[in-house]
Amino acid sequence: MPELPEVETVMRGLAARLEGRVIRKAELRRPDLRWAVPAGFAARLTGARVENLRRRGKYILMRLSGGDSVILHLGMSGRMNILAGAPLLAALPVLHEHLVLTTDQDVRIAFVDPRRFGSLDLVPTAAENTHRLLADLGPEPLEPGFDAAALSAALDGRRTPIKSALLDQGVVAGLGNIYVCEALFRARISPLRLAASVAGARAQRLVPAIRATLTEAIAAGGSSLRDYVQPSGELGYFQHAWKVYGRTGQPCEHCPGGAACPGIKRIVQSARSTFYCTRMQR
Ligand SMILES: [Zn+2]
Repeated sequence: MPELPEVETVMRGLAARLEGRVIRKAELRRPDLRWAVPAGFAARLTGARVENLRRRGKYILMRLSGGDSVILHLGMSGRMNILAGAPLLAALPVLHEHLVLTTDQDVRIAFVDPRRFGSLDLVPTAAENTHRLLADLGPEPLEPGFDAAALSAALDGRRTPIKSALLDQGVVAGLGNIYVCEALFRARISPLRLAASVAGARAQRLVPAIRATLTEAIAAGGSSLRDYVQPSGELGYFQHAWKVYGRTGQPCEHCPGGAACPGIKRIVQSARSTFYCTRMQR
């Protein structure tokens, strides 16, 4: 499932091709994804100029001339396909294309989501931040407002494991299962630790660990994107080299020489896999 770095990567790729462009044609292929797409969606997009794109949590926001904003969520498996140029426009249609935009530069951008856990909403731009999907989101982890004091305050009194607390989009926006595991490993904090006890020095370690984990993944996505988008047209995401995620039994890189490591352990928390080193994460 795409988390903040993947959504950021997709957003940047879309921005490069959409900002300042006019949507010449918008085709909505079905009335609903995870929930109903607002009535008149395609008509409101057609002829509009794309002012800018941004990301909030795991959502992509696209501001249009005329005062509307699209709120896009990629869901579990959603991706964007970008095709440009006449030969590519003649390519066979792809299954599960739910929205197809064609710009005034004849760039074709399709939202592909086989499992339909994604969503498309259209809201007045002035009401973006109060929309039900965005209103309760916590701070953006890469922006200045996210610091140890703010994180400690958000975790104060929480009787859940820190792993579960960090998945709560109201505590911090954009993290999912993979990057929470990776950030906790980097901060050497056990995923089982009570959230309320992550304060002081631990919070001081966790904030930069979250930032570094996300920043590195965005950088990796940016480089893979440049290589990937031209041949296939897919503006998707990439398999990153995780430090703990999916590495059950392997030595972690914090344990000296690796030999002392009991091996990365997999447990299940809130029905989701957690990976960590029992020795280095406390
Ligand atoms: Zn270890």
